[in-house]
Amino acid sequence: CGIVGYIGHREAWPLVIKGLKRLEYRGYDSAGIALINNDGLNIYKKAGKVQELENFAEGKNLSGTIGIGHTRWATHGAPSDRNSHPHTSHSGDLSIIHNGIIENYATLKEMLISKGHEFNSDTDTEVLIHLIEEIYKEENIDLLEAVRLALHEVSGAYAIVVMDEAKPDQLIAARKGSPMVIGVGQGEYFIASDATPIVEYTKNVIYLNDNEIAFLKRDELMIKRLDNVVQTPYIQELNLKL
Ligand code: GLU
Repeated sequence: CGIVGYIGHREAWPLVIKGLKRLEYRGYDSAGIALINNDGLNIYKKAGKVQELENFAEGKNLSGTIGIGHTRWATHGAPSDRNSHPHTSHSGDLSIIHNGIIENYATLKEMLISKGHEFNSDTDTEVLIHLIEEIYKEENIDLLEAVRLALHEVSGAYAIVVMDEAKPDQLIAARKGSPMVIGVGQGEYFIASDATPIVEYTKNVIYLNDNEIAFLKRDELMIKRLDNVVQTPYIQELNLKL
């Protein structure tokens, strides 16, 4: 139900935790965060409150300047640790957070199982990251293109952020029917379901439109439409009093 992403020079964990707390008002049943650091990809997720996630993760390796976090409002699969986001691909390299519903997940899941994919959750979301992985490997294309092509195969509503353990310098975000805001900082980007987790860091934001994908590096931003047309990002100044 809530999404927070960060790529930059700050420690991602405290920033993403704080962001998830700011989104708590939306309601949720589980929370989770994925980070890339010197141990590779680390995922911490728990049914329950963000505070329980913090307790669970205490003492673990929480370093890293790239991370994605999620509060879940279960639609497919009961609220549980294993159904919490982030979810990973079959190889474990790719991770995803998702708000919304992938309506045709059952058909896609069947196709992916026939290709040898094994699933660790009952969610529609896990199917999407396996689909992205399948396209990424079959076509020998970059991750942005794999995400774009995968989104052509799904029906439903989504706001997603995808992270690749092999590429700790990039995040890919996309939306259709679920809100998503990108905060533009100095050598850093913030992603969230609404501006509340972002305002304390930057007033410059881009509201992603439906059917757009954003490719984010620490000092680079590119937005494309799903039909592959590159868009000129429209950065606006937030005028919020907190
Ligand atoms: N459909 C996904 C799930 O059940 C995402 C739910 C959400 O928006 O939090 O895990």
